[in-house]
Amino acid sequence: MNEKKKILIVEDESGIAQIIAVNLMLAGYDYEIASDGEEGLNKALTGAFDLILLDLMLPKMSGFEVCARVRKKLATPIIMVTAREEEKDKILGLDTGADDYVTKPFSLNELLSRIKANIRRSANELVNPEAEDAGEEKVIKIRGLSIDTEKYDVTIDGTQLSLSRQEYDLLIFLAKNLGKPYTREELMGSVWGYEGYLGDIRAVDVTVSRLRAKLEKDPSNPEYLLTKRGIGYYLK
Ligand code: CA
Repeated sequence: MNEKKKILIVEDESGIAQIIAVNLMLAGYDYEIASDGEEGLNKALTGAFDLILLDLMLPKMSGFEVCARVRKKLATPIIMVTAREEEKDKILGLDTGADDYVTKPFSLNELLSRIKANIRRSANELVNPEAEDAGEEKVIKIRGLSIDTEKYDVTIDGTQLSLSRQEYDLLIFLAKNLGKPYTREELMGSVWGYEGYLGDIRAVDVTVSRLRAKLEKDPSNPEYLLTKRGIGYYLK
């Protein structure tokens, strides 16, 4: 029997926090609630949580700041919760360090499936380095692009790239399947870890454009990360 996963709910609206808490409990999770940004940060930094559900608009310290400060110390998966679609569009354009985003009002099924996927993904990352020792190439080279899968190091023409986790995960997935185009839905499944989830797939396009901005000499005319019209994306 696995130990229960523990979720930190950082949410100032107690009604919403309670609804989430009850549903987490029913789904077999442990939880703690923090009702402002400061309390959220302090609890998060104890490192006692498998995932953090972080409201954006909070008293004392915003979700952005909490996220940035947690990221400096911990790799705990963070799902950012925004009040409106417009807020979500804005933060999708920023590199906040969050792993995922949901918009209020969200369905509890969507939230639970995202929690599950993000915890599974972070658990996979912990076991992956050993799996890769079992004979897989540790350094993938594609012309000027070099990906060291052991050191999580990516360079382009000798210059090191600073990639977010999603950008890295997407790049490595496409690099291991060189030349094969994938749909956004397939990438949501294989890279983001969502199973049968057909909700918001904009995260794929946003991550692709961020990755192109770092990877390509001319992001509007990419040489590596290409669009397959009518299908999706592939690495060449
Ligand atoms: Ca709030």
